[in-house]
Amino acid sequence: MKTTEFRAAIAAVALVAFAAPAAFAAPAKGDAPVTEAELAGHIKILSSDAFEGRGPGTEGEDRTIAYVVGEWAKLGLEPVADSATPWLQGVPLVETHAMGGSAKFKVNGRDFAVADNDVLLTGRDATVSLTNLPIVFVGYGLDGTGKVNADVRGKVAVMLYDNVPFGDKLPRYRERRQMLGDAGASAVLVIATDEALWSQLQNAVGGKATRLASAKQGAPVTGFLSPAAADALFKTAGQDGAALRASAKSADYKGAALPAAVDLATTSTVRSYESNNIIAKLPGAKPDGKAVLFLGHWDHLGICAPDSTTDRICNGAVDNASGIAVLTAVAKRLASGARPDRDIYFMATTAEEKGLLGAHYFADHPALPLTDITVALNIDTIAISPRGTPVATIGRGKPAYDAVIRDVATKLGRKLDEDGEADAFIQRQDGWALGAKGVTSLMVGGSFSDMPLLESFLGGDYHEPADEFSDKVPLGGAAEDADLHVALGRAFADTKRWPGTAK
Ligand SMILES: [Zn+2]
Repeated sequence: MKTTEFRAAIAAVALVAFAAPAAFAAPAKGDAPVTEAELAGHIKILSSDAFEGRGPGTEGEDRTIAYVVGEWAKLGLEPVADSATPWLQGVPLVETHAMGGSAKFKVNGRDFAVADNDVLLTGRDATVSLTNLPIVFVGYGLDGTGKVNADVRGKVAVMLYDNVPFGDKLPRYRERRQMLGDAGASAVLVIATDEALWSQLQNAVGGKATRLASAKQGAPVTGFLSPAAADALFKTAGQDGAALRASAKSADYKGAALPAAVDLATTSTVRSYESNNIIAKLPGAKPDGKAVLFLGHWDHLGICAPDSTTDRICNGAVDNASGIAVLTAVAKRLASGARPDRDIYFMATTAEEKGLLGAHYFADHPALPLTDITVALNIDTIAISPRGTPVATIGRGKPAYDAVIRDVATKLGRKLDEDGEADAFIQRQDGWALGAKGVTSLMVGGSFSDMPLLESFLGGDYHEPADEFSDKVPLGGAAEDADLHVALGRAFADTKRWPGTAK
């Protein structure tokens, strides 16, 4: 199904939702606990091969929207109109897909070979050809004040992927890459690290780059270098990779020009298309103008592996069918139990995997004033830990909010993990896009508490075809975290309990 036919079908689902009697509940005797089986039911469907890995702009998107809208409509959620199609907020995207590219390096005037599978290049336009570009290693690309740290005009900036180890939460590589492009870099090559394994980057990027149609253009060429290739380049240029990385950790690092240059050529197909955020509302019983927003990304990597492999679909069972399952289970309790005072919004975002693009688009075009959102609770990659895992919060530090979470979690018998380790992930989730615009955005649960468990997922099935549903996917912690989110929704939507604005 495509476009008109598909949109008609979505409208029909919406009509059914309006025709059905609203499920106004008797006074709640408490919310029924969320079960592993309930979550498994949603995850199995959303991560089945029929959904083709839920790639934005594919039939997998159509199926995902039909399923999520169908489920949410059954629960009595209402569409939020922000476009011609209820339930959906169109997100205009531009994808460039590298069809071919070459990087010919010279060090001290001599050819220096980098194997084709050690470099990933994406051109901004259909054809790009740039010759004899000087190469400068820029470390993290920014200084401690968040400004671009080197003169990169007309050059190739070679930048580190990792989070910036200095400054106050300086942006992640995508934003830093954009800033280097805005500062005139002809190309930005990002060096993969342990945080972004080369194999995972090849799957996640695969020569494709997607931006919001409204975004600034960025550098003409962007790409990634394997750590091995970067180290070999540094060594041939008379530098030591480890020493360069160490100096880059200083907040006043100014970069190092290498006695090297490169010719870059890329050919790409450029495709404009529209994907969708799914947005729904549970109207409050006594709305006071403030609202709670639950969100989680519906998208995943789609068909991610080469033609030659037998399993080509990155199903995204844990990342993030599990989050959509929890979002839906939470909506079910809040819609069928005692109606909360405040409006509660549910959003399934698109293109998180491409750089939080759906969340950024919503932050730029919110369906309700951002200042009305008293808290945004993001749910991502939640099927990691068993029952009994302590509750960590990404975005801790506002005492009034922390107190609500502590109180709600403790009442449910949960222990708290307040060591702050979870904040390492703050920029890697949709809440970051809202937080950047002043919305208090939190990610609460057990998945980000047990770091060894999380890291074993991130170093294993994550972003691979192996992130599939099976009995081995732990759902106990997700079920418990779902109960926690129901209770948090009730607490933050309670006008007597929560003032709606706090620090
Ligand atoms: Zn992901």
